Amino acid sequence: MPVSPMRVAMLSAHSCPVGKLGTKDTGGMSVYIRELARELADRGHIVDVYTRVHDPEDREIYELARNARLIHLKAGEDEEMQKLDVYSHLPDFACNLERYRRQSDLRYDLIFSHYWLSGLAGAYLQQRWHVPHMIMFHTLGAVKNRIKEEARLANGGDEPELRIETERRLVGSCHRIIASTPREQEDLIRYYGASLDKINVVPCGVNLGQFKVIDRTLARQHLGFGEERIILYVGRLDPLKGIDKLIEALPLLSHIPGVRLVVIGGGEDSQHEVEQLRGLARGLGVQDAVSFVGLVKHEQLPYFYSAADVCVVPSHYESFGLVVLESLACGTPVVATDVGNHRDVIRDGETGYVVTDNTPGRLAEKIALLLCRTGADKGSALLCRSSVSRFGWSGVAQSVVSDCQEVLAHYLVAAS
Ligand code: UDP
Repeated sequence: MPVSPMRVAMLSAHSCPVGKLGTKDTGGMSVYIRELARELADRGHIVDVYTRVHDPEDREIYELARNARLIHLKAGEDEEMQKLDVYSHLPDFACNLERYRRQSDLRYDLIFSHYWLSGLAGAYLQQRWHVPHMIMFHTLGAVKNRIKEEARLANGGDEPELRIETERRLVGSCHRIIASTPREQEDLIRYYGASLDKINVVPCGVNLGQFKVIDRTLARQHLGFGEERIILYVGRLDPLKGIDKLIEALPLLSHIPGVRLVVIGGGEDSQHEVEQLRGLARGLGVQDAVSFVGLVKHEQLPYFYSAADVCVVPSHYESFGLVVLESLACGTPVVATDVGNHRDVIRDGETGYVVTDNTPGRLAEKIALLLCRTGADKGSALLCRSSVSRFGWSGVAQSVVSDCQEVLAHYLVAAS
């Protein structure tokens, strides 16, 4: 059925979708927004993604694709700030957006906000524009607090009540919530009293054209890697990601020769975390087996995934977990905790293992199986890849478009 073009305002106030992936506040959500914006534009829809100026060098407008733009608006100082500090600049953000829209003579059919902070700006604009408001929370404050307390993380339970209360209000006021997993849907109902019919579960995707199987030898040559057994970690260096548990698993793998852990992620803003992890590795006597590579551009990651023997996602919490999809798309098996969508994505014993928790012993046991497997050949790489072929971004966009159309139709009927 042909779908008439929609004009969508996407909001990503706190995090820039073209920011450096792997820094403190820039990860899966940014990938999601830019991939989805491009896919929607490819289908003839018009998408403007709004974010705040994070850097004086930011251009006002970036062309993400034909019909998809990223627009920077002033809100507070032109620099990175703590997520929570963005809260007090949201009124400026929303007012500047409205001013820009009027000056440019723009009109939108729908608002799609990402994360609770943008949700707040979206709720304000919704009332002025009289269009439906969709939200994707990406992570939920109440769930983060529960997980941090259970895992006894140093900063346990520090998601402020302001966030949780705002999320609760947004859940009530918005017209549709996109959850990336059934688990998130359950959390929205359990912790926020969301009504089931307001939520649509649409998994995240992977760019199957970019994340491809590269011959392992070629990938290693490209990166200057030798014949070690490589365990790969990719992601932000956040305590919730459980990288410390992965480092603690290394001494338990000492019976396997030539093991190296390659840690990707963490920019200049994560030096403290890197030092802490280095200290942990030193204390365990495995410092020579860990390489902290820092940030790697998304386009370069297929080399790392393809060169690795196993990718590990030891997180205490993930809303979805894009890294698992990316690694499998590059043909490399994954050991991951039972969070996000991991259980649905990983075929236990075939494309990796899902562990009930990230205790070092459990991680080491499954990592060892993959490091020592015989017959890890092209066939197993293709099996990993084919297992995620259903997760292309075009399928995600198709589901989101159907959802937008349905929400729009309901809104127009209710308004008439
Ligand atoms: N990433 C990257 N370079 C880095 C570190 C991470 O491109 O140095 C990307 C990674 O490939 C993935 C995203 O950042 O696409 C992280 O998404 P994920 O869903 O795994 O975690 P989140 O950041 O949402 O917690």
